[in-house]
Amino acid sequence: MFASLLRLLFLVPCYLWVAPWTCTGLLVGLICQTKGVEYAMHRGTLGIFGPGVARLLRKVPIAGGAKAMTLGHCILAVDRESWRETFSHEWIHVRQYQWFGPFFVPAYFMESAWQWFRGRDPYRDNRFERQAYKWE
Ligand SMILES: [Zn+2]
Repeated sequence: MFASLLRLLFLVPCYLWVAPWTCTGLLVGLICQTKGVEYAMHRGTLGIFGPGVARLLRKVPIAGGAKAMTLGHCILAVDRESWRETFSHEWIHVRQYQWFGPFFVPAYFMESAWQWFRGRDPYRDNRFERQAYKWE
């Protein structure tokens, strides 16, 4: 009982802190709904995938597009298989969102810009991606 209450006291602020980006993920899911979307829950996150999301992820500016992308507690993926395949990587991004909250996306893009400015790869050399690839 006490452990459950303690867990709840930790989780509520955690979800609220990340809520702006989770809501953005939910909005993307709603927008993609007309093209076909499926949902799945896992480890406190919502997986959103299907043809509508796939169309969007193909436009992500990394080579060949992205298989998945995290927005708060929402993990957007091309399809169910990609969602399963990339979950451990995206889960690290969920943890990063939990640390940085609404500041995660600006911090991520500033880090990419910094790497690009230094002549490095803005995706592969981004410290958030390096951490995700290291711990996935
Ligand atoms: Zn990543």
